Amino acid sequence: MEVIWPYDHGEVGEFFYARYGHPEVAAAETALGALDGGTAVLFPSGTGAATALVLSLLRPGDTIALAAGAYYGTGRLFETLAPWGLRHVEYDQTGPPPDGAKLVWAEAPANPMLTMPDMASAAAHPAPLLVDSTVATPIDLRPLEHGADYVLHSATKALGGHDDVLLGVVVCRDPAAADALRRFRGLTGISPAAEQARLLRRSLHTLEVRVRRQAATAALLAERLADQPGVRTVRYPGLGCLVSFDVADAGAARRVETATRLVTNATSLGGVHSLIEARHRWEGDRIPSGLLRLSVGLEDPEELWADLAHALDSA
Ligand code: PLP
Repeated sequence: MEVIWPYDHGEVGEFFYARYGHPEVAAAETALGALDGGTAVLFPSGTGAATALVLSLLRPGDTIALAAGAYYGTGRLFETLAPWGLRHVEYDQTGPPPDGAKLVWAEAPANPMLTMPDMASAAAHPAPLLVDSTVATPIDLRPLEHGADYVLHSATKALGGHDDVLLGVVVCRDPAAADALRRFRGLTGISPAAEQARLLRRSLHTLEVRVRRQAATAALLAERLADQPGVRTVRYPGLGCLVSFDVADAGAARRVETATRLVTNATSLGGVHSLIEARHRWEGDRIPSGLLRLSVGLEDPEELWADLAHALDSA
């Protein structure tokens, strides 16, 4: 795919150099904007989207109120940016965000604790509200309709859906905010690859059927997991493909994740193949040591259950 386009009689056209814009990227953004009801800006990963958003919106000394129990990498990103003066505090997103924050960062639902944000009190806070809606997807939640200013998705997950895309998107309520973010993207070079954008657009055609089927299977598995003797807590928020559940400790979690056959022992979520992993290896003591995160794919629900039940029995 080309990355330059000739000028027209000396005039610079809409597309001239791919770091600033590409027709495949623009087409994916149109589709993503329609799904969330705003103006979308695509990035090379969810983390790249988060980096661009906070660096373009905030100034040294500003504080982000970040949902506790949310995606581990988001807190790690903000720590990484601390030398540039970015601060963050964690808050319980089932209640109101703390005073003084310059950006509220909620996650719907939080990965892997699977709490849902109190959208009304988050939207009532004077700071702009960003909702990372990666796990909910626009099929189940459109945060801009609940007072959010920005929606973020790791498109690597359900939007891409096939574990062959690494992309992220910010969908803005205000088109002028999207223009500013797009300018920042071009100037800093946090620009997505066109081929990845094309794969994403392919995936969006099947998003709704995938999400609905994955959620139905996830609900069934969550219900059955709750009756298993070795399982302590089961979390399932009633939407999406993600279930998290606790077994006795880190050793038991390791035995379960290495005993499944149909469900792959790998990180990530939202794809057509089911994945399981013990999150303690990444997140340490911020989560229960026996927490397993299960991303439910499109496999036959009974075959998935047989695989999980066998893994739990052998743990
Ligand atoms: N947000 C959530 C909820 C995630 O689960 C992830 C990745 O796991 C990200 C953001 C970061 O996305 P990426 O891996 O595309 O950078």
